[in-house]
Amino acid sequence: MSETLFDKVWNRHVVVPETDAHPATIYIDLHLIHEVTSPQAFTVLKDRGLKVRRPDLTLATIDHSTPTLLNDDGTRPFVTDQAEKQVETLLANAAEHGIETHGWDSDNRGIVHVMGPELGATRPGMTIVCGDSHTSTHGAFGAIAFGIGTTQVGHVLANQCILMRKPKTMAIHVDGELQPGVTPKDVILAIIAEIGVGGGTGYALEYRGSVFENMSMDGRMTVCNMSIEAGARCGMVAPDDKTFAYLEGRKFAPDNYLAACDDWASLASDPGAVYDKEVFMKAEDIRPMVTYGTHPGMAMPIDALIPAAADKAEEDALEYMQVKAGAEIAGLKVDRVFIGSCTNSRMEDLRAAASVMDGGQVPDGLIAIVVPGSEQIKIQAEAEGLHEIFTSAGAQWREPGCSMCIAMNGDKAAPGELVVSTSNRNFAGRQGPGARTVLASPETAAAAAISGVLVDPRTFLDEEAA
Ligand code: SF4
Repeated sequence: MSETLFDKVWNRHVVVPETDAHPATIYIDLHLIHEVTSPQAFTVLKDRGLKVRRPDLTLATIDHSTPTLLNDDGTRPFVTDQAEKQVETLLANAAEHGIETHGWDSDNRGIVHVMGPELGATRPGMTIVCGDSHTSTHGAFGAIAFGIGTTQVGHVLANQCILMRKPKTMAIHVDGELQPGVTPKDVILAIIAEIGVGGGTGYALEYRGSVFENMSMDGRMTVCNMSIEAGARCGMVAPDDKTFAYLEGRKFAPDNYLAACDDWASLASDPGAVYDKEVFMKAEDIRPMVTYGTHPGMAMPIDALIPAAADKAEEDALEYMQVKAGAEIAGLKVDRVFIGSCTNSRMEDLRAAASVMDGGQVPDGLIAIVVPGSEQIKIQAEAEGLHEIFTSAGAQWREPGCSMCIAMNGDKAAPGELVVSTSNRNFAGRQGPGARTVLASPETAAAAAISGVLVDPRTFLDEEAA
């Protein structure tokens, strides 16, 4: 019987099948933990006298609350005592339970969804969980990966399993060739605008078609990362030669690599596999996208006019964002630019942003920060001189971390400020109380940084071509 990629990976991990009365018990291959959602789970474990069931399948990092600037003396200015305590607690818990940890002294410390793939801990056919919604990122490798709550973090620490109902499957086909200046971020924003923020609810998405086949692993991670923003449980891309080339030689790559690749290749959906739903889009229809409201589904081409509100919630969103239906979004004054997050902080993103910012200048009054996704990315970007392009243009080059994606570490915008951000959520107040977020690609964010206004990034492509 023909099976989908999701079905194949799911079936390999069922410990106890689902019934009407009970969800399935699913075995978890990799549990990623960080300082925000794990302390309470470790406390529960301690109270019950339990140990971590598989410390060897658990991997820790610090990213959410970590400062991205250093004091002159090299110390770290935590925004609150609580933030510092969270980090100390994670490091202590991980050490006590024998969990591999990428803390301050590791060259692999980074945002949890950047670090996992970099280490090769994320591999095809796995089940991966983390107490962070954007765990869907790891689906780019053909893994079932999804975010879990603090209580579930405790369950997985204790028994390496999770209870869940099997989601339905949805294939999202995007075929054709992307136009110049159109990036993976634009593709996923266009998909969410098409199917809606609730369009993926109850589904596991599989991204199919020539656009994803031709996309880099960095790009596939950007796409899968935002699956959750369409309400989906997870998003996946079938593993292929690009996946195998990416993982080869990484720390956790299997010893018998060719045999592993053969197995991974067999995970692709079978011809004739049936999905519960299918969506078809044309690559040529996608233009550089930005959001104009307070959820990622309120996304539009940057060269279009702001759509009319469909309901009261959208009316409120337009008011919050201080934009008017029927007006152009290009030209909107920008106060801050954030290039970073597990959506867009990888080498491909930083190279793209640097190519736009090269030779430009951030105008007075605008603050632009570039935050690499990991220590490895910081090292590589500096080796390529990208940091000098950013700082010469007047942007700040920071230490790795989640930073303004969630604004827990003190990196945030002031009330009313407009932020062009390469992150994944534009909810009201996400980047600081009253802050207004416009989600965009690294190219669009970089173009805004040196223009002081929202501008079509293709303008810069044209200038280069000319
Ligand atoms: S960058 Fe944002 S979405 Fe990603 S792990 Fe950090 S807080 Fe979560």
